Amino acid sequence: MSDQPAKRLVLDGVRKAYATDAGPNEVLRGVSLEVRPGETVAIVGVSGSGKSTLLNIIGSLDRATAGRVTLGEMDVTALEGAALADYRRRQVGFVFQDHHLLPQCTVLENVLLPTLPMAAAGRAGPAEAEELLRRVGFAGRENDFPQHLSGGERQRVAIARALVNGPPLVLCDEPTGNLDRRTGEAVADLFVELAGQRQVMMLVVTHNLDLAGRFSRRLELRDGMLA
Ligand code: ADP
Ligand code: MG
Repeated sequence: MSDQPAKRLVLDGVRKAYATDAGPNEVLRGVSLEVRPGETVAIVGVSGSGKSTLLNIIGSLDRATAGRVTLGEMDVTALEGAALADYRRRQVGFVFQDHHLLPQCTVLENVLLPTLPMAAAGRAGPAEAEELLRRVGFAGRENDFPQHLSGGERQRVAIARALVNGPPLVLCDEPTGNLDRRTGEAVADLFVELAGQRQVMMLVVTHNLDLAGRFSRRLELRDGMLA
């Protein structure tokens, strides 16, 4: 379990424009949202509607043009340097469409990777990684290699890795995009279960409406706004 106090994620009037030859491309036009611990929020929207842009801004991988993202007392949009690195490491977990597991590392080693910079501070380690792997159905298979796993199994390992440092927030960009329907549903249900148990806020981008219905809230990104 995370030793960090419960925090809310708040987006207030987030805007993003990309410069193009034809002038600014306004992708986000004032996105506001509040998420509480344990909530799983599905964000749907057509391709190009700005879903990845929104997740990247929340995860501080990209900068908003205007507006504010706060996590608890922390103004994410104002973070720089060491504070920014610490935010990405401790406050946010990421799950992508491609699992991004390292092929030369075992399942356990992959889950432990995000803990390496924290080891000196005595944070999450092997015990937490093994507990998470047990939770996602990998008890006794910690030494398997990613290439021997199915797509669904790889995403289960990816969620364990995203949770290992006990972040209050997990951002998932099309995490079931490469999975068949049944497997995708099972992975989505696992995410919802883990979010509830660990009181994690989970934002999941998906273009699959059926899948979106399995999460606790469903929002649509359209014309740069959330509805
Ligand atoms: P989605 O994830 O919903 O498919 P994206 O957030 O990837 O949408 O993209 C939204 C829009 O922003 C698209 O029109 C895309 O071309 C544009 N875009 C995304 N990233 C960049 C970038 N780094 N530079 C310029 N335009 C971008
Ligand atoms: Mg995208």
